[in-house]
Amino acid sequence: MNDCLFCKIIAGEIPSTKIYEDDSVFVFADIEPTAPVHWLAVPKTHIAKLSDVNESNSAVISHIYEVISKLAAEHEEFADGFRVVSNCGKTAGQSVFHIHFHILAGREFAWPAG
Ligand code: AMP
Ligand code: ZN
Repeated sequence: MNDCLFCKIIAGEIPSTKIYEDDSVFVFADIEPTAPVHWLAVPKTHIAKLSDVNESNSAVISHIYEVISKLAAEHEEFADGFRVVSNCGKTAGQSVFHIHFHILAGREFAWPAG
C-alpha cells in the first residue's frame, strides 16, 4: 500500500520511535500519546481494519497479542494493568486504515468507552 502512513513507518520512510520489531510485527510510539505509555502495534502486512481479519491473515493478529503480553511483562508501567484498543471504522474513530492496536498503560482508564 504505497499511500499508507503506517506502511511507510514500517518501511522506515517516515520516522518513528520504534519499541519492538520482528519479522511480522512493528510496535512504535503514538505521536500524540494519551497515556504515559501509548504505543501502536501493527502487522507488517497491510490489513486495513479489524473487520478485514479472516482465517487467511489472522495468524499475525494472534502474534501481535503474544508480543503485547511479552512487552507488558518487560515494562513496569504495565504491572497494575493496561488497555489494548483497535478502533474499527469511522464511528469507532479509526483515522489510519492500517489495522493497529493501541497499547495504553501508566494511568487509570475509564469504562465504558466514550
Ligand atoms: P486511530 O484514530 O485509532 O486510527 O489511531 C491512529 C493513531 O495514529 C492516533 O492515535 C495518532 O496519534 C497516531 N498517529 C498518526 N500519525 C502518526 C505518526 N506519524 N507516528 C505515530 N503515530 C501516529
Ligand atoms: Zn499499510
